This record gives sequence, structure tokens and C-alpha cells, in this order.
Amino acid sequence: MSEAAAGRRIDGRSIARTIYERVGEGIARLRQRGMVPHLVAVQMGHSEASDVYVRNQKERLSPLGIQFTHLALDPTLSAEALITHVEALNENPTVTGIILTMPLPDAIPAFRIQERIHPAKDVEGVHPANLGRLIHNRQAVGPCTALAVLTAIEATDVPLEGKYVVIVGHSDIVGKPVGLCLLQELATITTCHVATKDLARHTREADILVVAVGQPGLIRADMVKPGAVVIDVGISRTSDGRIAGDVDIDEVAPRASWITPVPGGIGPITVAMLARNTMLCAEKQCEGGA
Ligand code: NAD
Repeated sequence: MSEAAAGRRIDGRSIARTIYERVGEGIARLRQRGMVPHLVAVQMGHSEASDVYVRNQKERLSPLGIQFTHLALDPTLSAEALITHVEALNENPTVTGIILTMPLPDAIPAFRIQERIHPAKDVEGVHPANLGRLIHNRQAVGPCTALAVLTAIEATDVPLEGKYVVIVGHSDIVGKPVGLCLLQELATITTCHVATKDLARHTREADILVVAVGQPGLIRADMVKPGAVVIDVGISRTSDGRIAGDVDIDEVAPRASWITPVPGGIGPITVAMLARNTMLCAEKQCEGGA
């Protein structure tokens, strides 16, 4: 990796624009065939972050021709009552996609509900069937954030075969699926998490470092190999009200060959991936593959 390339930003907004263009064209073709993609966002209760996320989805997806419905449910409902709502959406032929807004109330484990969403309508790619398929086919519907990370890495044109990738964070929507997909590309993977001893010993070796933790400033310059590709998934609000990633970008960017900014990196690509997944689900239903 050349000196001249040091710290080049991966422009998530520009990547997202390209994805929206392709999705917009795909949806126009579906509408010509009489299929209107219809996404229902199910939300139980409110938090600042989830309200913003639902609003963003509507603002981004509606102009593409996706019908968007916000189903706000009483947060005191039981898991069984929530499942009844999900099953009604599964059965509703005018609904092509279902998104379950996090967080759910503490008493309801997310996976119990996610596995009740019909896999053909699972636009977040979190149903076990979709997670499993992703291992074999990255073009399939998968978790939006994991797909965003893979797309950002791809945008650097850095070949993956033989690269050492360290992922910090082992969640079902980022760390685990990203690791499995990169294994398919013959990268060598280490996944670190809260119980990993001496995190820096691992991160310092990484050709590609993916960080998805939610701790601003966790990754400092001395934890990064010179020339590494650094993908920062973290989104946190700092005490002074800023949005910050997990990587200290001022310190790390001069050392990295490529780096994603926060905001403007993985976040915008993730929402674009939701649009892409929504189109793919509707396409499959249009073709009778659901
Ligand atoms: P999570 O919150 O489910 O889990 C956090 C992970 O970090 C766990 O694997 C945990 O073991 C690990 N961890 C915690 N402390 C650690 C430490 N000190 N050292 C090493 N590992 C540690 O993860 P998530 O849902 O993937 O979210 C992670 C971050 O990514 C959050 O900031 C979240 O807001 C953000 N996020 C961003 C997007 C986006 O679109 N950009 C999407 C999803 C999540």
C-alpha cells in the first residue's frame, strides 16, 4: 500500500448513492410488473436512536418507490402477542418485508421473534435460514451492517485472499457474519470480543481491522498495523453530543491505507443495504420464490 494512499477515506455516502441508484431501477422494474415493495417497521416503545432509525428508513426508502408502514406497538405486549402481529404480516400478501426495530423490551429475546419472520420477508437477513445462506452466497439477503462492511472493504480493491482480518466485536449482525463471509474469500480471521486478552496484540497484526464495539476511542494508533484497512462500525454519542466511532480517527487515519469515517462511513451503506434487501425480497416474491 503506497504512502500516497495513507488514510484515504472510504466514502460511505457515495457508495450508498450508487446502491440506491441500482435499487431504484430494480424497484421501477418491479412496479412495472405490478409489484409494489412494502416494508413494515415494527417498533415496541421508543428510544431516541430507534425513533431516528425508523424515520431515516422512511426518508430513504420512500423516494425509491418502497411503501413504508410504521407499526408502533404497545411496549407492554407479551412475546406471544408480538409473534401474532409478525405472523399476520407474514400472511399479508401486500407486505413484502418486515423489520423488527431494536431494542425490544427486555423480557422479549430478539432471536425468538426474528425466527418467526418469514425468511422471504426478512429484509434484515437475521432469520437463521438467511444467516445460513449468506455463508454460501454473499449476493443473498444478509444482515445489513455485515453487508455494508463487506461492501466498504470491496470498495478499497484490496484483495482478500491470504489477508489477515481481525474483527473486534462478535455480534450476530456484524462480527459473526462478516467473519464467515471473509473466510469464503480465503482471508484468515480472528474475532475478538469483550473477553479477549490483550486486544492490541491481535489488532496490531491485522491487514484489515473491523471494529464493532460501541466504545469511542477504543482503537488507538499503536493498535493498528501501518497500511491497514480500518473499518469502524461503532456509533456512539459522546458526552459533548458528537457522534463517534470506535476508532480514534485523528490518530489512526495517518497510519491506515483506508479508513471509514463516522459519521459517513458504514452507517449510510447499512441503510442502503436495507433498501437492497427490501428489493431482493420483493423480487423473489414477485417471481413466486417465497
Ligand atoms: P453489540 O453491542 O451486540 O456487541 C458489542 C461487541 O463488542 C460484543 O462482541 C462485545 O463482546 C464486544 N466488546 C465490548 N467491549 C469490548 C472491549 N473492551 N474489547 C473488545 N470487544 C469488546 O454489537 P453490535 O450490535 O454489533 O454494535 C456494535 C457497535 O456498532 C455499536 O456502537 C452500534 O451502535 C454500532 N452499529 C452501527 C451500525 C451502523 O449502521 N453503522 C449498525 C449496527 C451497529
